[in-house]
Formats: sequence, structure tokens, C-alpha cells
Amino acid sequence: MPKEAVVSTHPLDEVLRTDRLPHIWCPGCGLGTVMGAFARAMLASGIPLDQHVVVSGIGCTGRVPGYLKVDGFHTTHGRAIPFATGLVIANPELKVTVFSGDGDLVAIGGNHLIHAARRNIDLNVICVNNFNYGMTGGQLGPTTPKGAITTTSPYGFPEDPFNLPHLLASLGAVFVARWTTLHVRQLEETMIRAFHKRGFRFIEVLAPCPVGFGRPNDMGEGLDEMWFYRRQADYDPQAALEMLEVSMHKDSKVICGVFVDTERPTYMDNYHKYVLSKVMGGKSGAA
Ligand code: SF4
Repeated sequence: MPKEAVVSTHPLDEVLRTDRLPHIWCPGCGLGTVMGAFARAMLASGIPLDQHVVVSGIGCTGRVPGYLKVDGFHTTHGRAIPFATGLVIANPELKVTVFSGDGDLVAIGGNHLIHAARRNIDLNVICVNNFNYGMTGGQLGPTTPKGAITTTSPYGFPEDPFNLPHLLASLGAVFVARWTTLHVRQLEETMIRAFHKRGFRFIEVLAPCPVGFGRPNDMGEGLDEMWFYRRQADYDPQAALEMLEVSMHKDSKVICGVFVDTERPTYMDNYHKYVLSKVMGGKSGAA
């Protein structure tokens, strides 16, 4: 079959820049699965594609906007959230998604992450967590599980990692979820739910990085990491948030679900109430 015929019948043609394929990700990497779920969720959301914007930082996940046929920005390291904040404040009609990795969002961009959640900026944040800095050679990061081997923790990572759902919930995110790349349908449905909410929404996706993380930790290839999730994952949206830390221990569980789905005024709601109403209202009327 000629290549043109295959490309023109791909179900995601409308939203993928097929001229940029094949992608750069390693065999067995989880990133293509997450991007595919996101592309299908955008199409199923009913939100016009020209309203979607995808913003990323640096790293393997940072390449996602380049493969999507919607407006996108591949920004500087750790700064996807400030770029995205500017976009959504300038044009609140946009559906802005920050799509980045654990190193970019939680380490280098960690301060932006916590303050955007506290302010309840109207952003959808997808954090692909593969427990290491994959692109730069498999170094440890703040989500690396305790005891895991990385290029910068050859004897085992001695620290306690961030438990991201617990962290984001405690900061006031209005929507907090976790899935793995094994849970493609649940992930897609969760992304659609998140598109239709206002405020700071956070979805963690645990994904295989067979090159940077799987190999040094004897987890095998990407498929073997999927089997790891198959064995360890449990659905429990009522789980106590402080119990959601990911561990390398063979008896530990990877708890998944939508843990928080609530409402509170967004940053712009509060800005209108406390600032703009006073600046534009009483004083200008009296003058
Ligand atoms: S280094 Fe890891 S995260 Fe990056 S493309 Fe390869 S498998 Fe994926």
C-alpha cells in the first residue's frame, strides 16, 4: 500500500503532525501512549481544536507539542507553567495544557508548580513521571523511588521522593488523578473530564523509560515495565493521599484513580473580585 494511503487513513490524522513521524522516542517508551490518549481525548472533548494549546518544557516529554496539530510551545527548562499562565490570563477562552516530565515540572519547575496550584491558575497539567531525567542520561529526580538506581545514585537513591497526588492535593489543585500507561482508556476519560473543568488540574501518568530507568533497575524492556504496572497497580480513588508514594518494593502497590474533583475560585475569579472590580468599579465611577 502506498505511504500516502496509510497516512491519510490514520484515525488521528486530524490532530497529529504525521509529517514529523516517526517520533524520536526510544522503543518501549511510554510517551507515545500518553500522547495518543491525549490526542484522542482532545478529539472526543468536543472542544474545537483551535481552542487547545499545549505547552511543554525540556526533556523527552517536552517534544509532545511538536507532534500535535494544535498551537503549541516548547519552552525553556522548568518554565512551561509560567508560559502557560501568561497564555490563559491573556485569553481565558483557551484550553491550555502543560504537558511535561517529572524533572521539568517537579524539580527545575517545582516552584512554578506549587504556586500555580496554590493560585488555582486555570491550567490542565499532565506530568509524565518516569522517575528520572531520561533525555540527559538517566539522572535521579525528586520522584525517583527510594532505593532506585540511576546514573547519579549508583548505590540506590537514599531520599524520600515526592508523592505527587498528595503534594498537589495539599496545594489546592481542584482535580488530581494518577494512572499508568497501562490504563489507556481511564487516562483518556480522565483527560476529557479535566478539559471540562476550571482551575488547576493535575494528572500524573506513570510511564516506562526502559533506557533511563528500566535498565539500571533490572526491570527489563518497556513491555516488562508494563507488566510491573499490571502486577502492582490498584484502583482506589478513596485511598489516603499520604499512602500514594511509589515504591520499588515488590509488595508495594501503585494506587491509581481520580483522587480530587472539587471546585474553588480560580486566580482570575479572585483577581476580578478583589482587584478589577475596585479599579474599574467604584473609583472610575466616582471620577
Ligand atoms: S530516554 Fe526514556 S523517556 Fe526518553 S525517549 Fe527514551 S525511553 Fe522515553
